[in-house]
Amino acid sequence: MSDRELVVLGTASQAPTRRRNHNGYLLRWDGAGVLFDPGEGTQRQMLFAGVTASQITHICITHFHGDHCLGLPGVLQRMSLDRVAHTVDACYPAQNQEVFRRLRHAALFHEVTNLAERPVTGGGTVLKESAFRVEAQPLSHSVPAIGYRLVEPDGRRMLPGRLAALGVTGPDIGRLQREGRLATGDRLVSLDQVSEPRRGQRFAFIMDTRLCDGAFALADGADMVVCESTFADTEAALAREYGHLTARQAGRIAAESRARLLVLTHFSQRYEHGDSQHLADEAAEAFGGQVVLASDLDRIPVPSRHPPAA
Ligand SMILES: [Zn+2]
Repeated sequence: MSDRELVVLGTASQAPTRRRNHNGYLLRWDGAGVLFDPGEGTQRQMLFAGVTASQITHICITHFHGDHCLGLPGVLQRMSLDRVAHTVDACYPAQNQEVFRRLRHAALFHEVTNLAERPVTGGGTVLKESAFRVEAQPLSHSVPAIGYRLVEPDGRRMLPGRLAALGVTGPDIGRLQREGRLATGDRLVSLDQVSEPRRGQRFAFIMDTRLCDGAFALADGADMVVCESTFADTEAALAREYGHLTARQAGRIAAESRARLLVLTHFSQRYEHGDSQHLADEAAEAFGGQVVLASDLDRIPVPSRHPPAA
């Protein structure tokens, strides 16, 4: 099991189908678990996917159409039922705070879990943890909508060969990392001499939107982009009218933003009985990188930091 992976809980837009549950995704990122857009049935899908309520540390809602939030009451109540002890941060578009409150208190239950509401008012950093920050960007949909981006700070990777050559061992390595330089024998060793830059990983979550600047900003340099692709090329006019993307547009976002892996999801039920592979093909024509067509209960690893050399 990878330490950083997307657990797909559902992949249907608007109406669930026999094969696809309403939307829902858990991003496992080391010890954190970010639940995105829990649609109806998310609690049961978690059971099938082997995800527990206590794994959820953050909740991010892009907008308040039902397929992106009707699972919230069940998930929140389940967290209290399971006596989740840690604080759970919940981000959502501030314009619809009232809708969030209604979902939170949709039924009567004994609320145990400490839920920290983080209504999002605009673009920028909305949460800062030690291991990552969460940024938001406004999207262009028929109701207030935002996309999210998880960014790991850039760091440095220690090089064992150089450390050994300069005689830096044991606790001195940690000291050098903290202080940036270290006196050893008659030498002064700097961090630059024994390490190299390590780019932080980035994950983007882009749901219901037309093509817009926010979508490109979210995907910029991302290792994994999860993107709605409600429609195929043949329904491009519908996509524009209802504020959605086609698979080809999702591919274009990934290509122009130099993303690495594109995960397509949020499919119209009109493709239930046909071959949905053509959605991946249309995205791939616009994007040179890897495209994955998400299925319910997939676990998709965030690509490792160092892709093997071609
Ligand atoms: Zn929507």
